[in-house]
Amino acid sequence: LVSRKWRVQPSVLDLGDGVTIGEGSLALCAGPCSIESEAQMEKVMAHLLENDVRLMRGGVFKPRSSPYAFRGLGMDGLKEFHRMARERGIKIVTEVMQVSQVEEMHDYVDVFQVGARNTQNFNLLDALGGVDKPVLLKRGISGTIEELLSSAEYVFSGGNEKLILCERGIRTFETASRNTLDLNAVPILKAKSHLPVIVDPSHGIGIREFVPQMALAGVLAGADGIVYETHETPETAASDGAQTLDFDESARLIRNLRRVYQLR
Ligand code: PEP
Ligand code: MN
Repeated sequence: LVSRKWRVQPSVLDLGDGVTIGEGSLALCAGPCSIESEAQMEKVMAHLLENDVRLMRGGVFKPRSSPYAFRGLGMDGLKEFHRMARERGIKIVTEVMQVSQVEEMHDYVDVFQVGARNTQNFNLLDALGGVDKPVLLKRGISGTIEELLSSAEYVFSGGNEKLILCERGIRTFETASRNTLDLNAVPILKAKSHLPVIVDPSHGIGIREFVPQMALAGVLAGADGIVYETHETPETAASDGAQTLDFDESARLIRNLRRVYQLR
């Protein structure tokens, strides 16, 4: 069902209030790795609005490699995130980690993110197949393109056609970068599937100074959008600071992404 053979026309997702994801426009989504505080969200939201970005990312349930790392503010953080975003006309993307969270998070999210560690959590995918909110499905850490499409098929065949595929880098033998951003996946996914495809250069390379280049390369490779991490002071971010852009870097990237998109 997610194949171009079944649907030739590209699917375009409408999040309402003029925010769309899919062919015909460049979707930009930015925000911190983790939601940390009201003050932090206020600054990020002001930065996004100044740059006409209306989609914000931010995790409240964080899948951390170490159990001792910051694991997110949970439902209280999400409710605050949702309230502040509503007041400002911003849509939010946040990660859901398990089936039991789908229902409690439902009314407070615009897009459910399925993280790379959960791409093959088939029970979670089944549960998301039954909701009326879009799902941003990340590629698994060691997942093939075909496996990503099969995971998308779980959600789609469950009745939820509002899906976005995300290339976020894969685990390879290379250790010079956090992950290996597989830009090959972009044109291949676009050819195989009618679903929107976006690129996450932050997790893809994991090195702040190189994130903008990989984001621009993602757009040139044919991505329908870019999702990346930004924070007022990346040095103090509760997670993923080393791959997070400050607001100056973020503003410059937004300008350049829009320019490059026009050249396509
Ligand atoms: C994130 O978006 O912060 C995240 C944890 O992403 P991924 O699942 O791609 O590692
Ligand atoms: Mn992160």
